Amino acid sequence: MPELPEVETVRRELEKRIVGKKIAKIEVLEKKQFLGDPKKVVGREIKSIWRRAKVLVIDINGLILLVHLKMTGQIIYLSNKKRLVSVGHPLPFILNQLPNKTTRLVINLDDSSRLFFNDLRKFGWFKLLTKKQAEVELADFGPEPLGKDFTLRYFINSLGRTRRVVKMALLDQRLVAGIGNIYASEVLFAARVSPRRQANSLSDQEISRLYRAIKEILSEAIDYGGTSAADQAYVRPDASPGRYQNKLGVYQREGKPCYSCGGIVKKIKQNNRSTFWCPGCQK
Ligand SMILES: [Zn+2]
Repeated sequence: MPELPEVETVRRELEKRIVGKKIAKIEVLEKKQFLGDPKKVVGREIKSIWRRAKVLVIDINGLILLVHLKMTGQIIYLSNKKRLVSVGHPLPFILNQLPNKTTRLVINLDDSSRLFFNDLRKFGWFKLLTKKQAEVELADFGPEPLGKDFTLRYFINSLGRTRRVVKMALLDQRLVAGIGNIYASEVLFAARVSPRRQANSLSDQEISRLYRAIKEILSEAIDYGGTSAADQAYVRPDASPGRYQNKLGVYQREGKPCYSCGGIVKKIKQNNRSTFWCPGCQK
């Protein structure tokens, strides 16, 4: 699932390409994935695009389009001149043509460029809302981990108040926004903290290591354009993969030697989600 670094990469790359353009036409191919009246977006200018947690927030001059990519959502941008075949690298099969059988939505912009929303598993969504409704929708998220509201003091207090295991606490979007399965595993590995520890058993020093790891790893992952994991579901808007998968310490490396201690990376299930960790390094 795209997490903060992947959604932020999509946001930055779309911002350069679509802000200032008008929506000329929208084709909703899967009705359940677009909430609202698609006719209302036609003719509106795209004013800005930002991100809250894993949600894209697109201001279309008075109305807001919220977009969640969920498990397998992709947003691909094709300029009026460019054909997908010119991207110049091997593409996952699903992208070899656009639209394809996973395309759920197509937006035509006024310069003849197009946005394709592909989603193999159909969990992603677009919601057309007023500004007020969008604020309500986004109100429950905790602080942005790369923002100034996410302080060490806040993090120590929040983890100290929960008896859940620390892996599940990191996935709680109300505690800190935007971390999912990939980066929870990576952050715990970098901080040398076992994913099985109860959050309120962590020392201030351990929480401080986790805090630094969150900031460093998420920032670095954005610099690398995010992680295209084994399923290759996540791609950037130009259909190229991210590069952070080459930097992963433990995620999807089960059975392989730990880069730090040489022990074997393990995969366990916690609340039905996979966690990857090194029992030798993480205590
Ligand atoms: Zn290790």
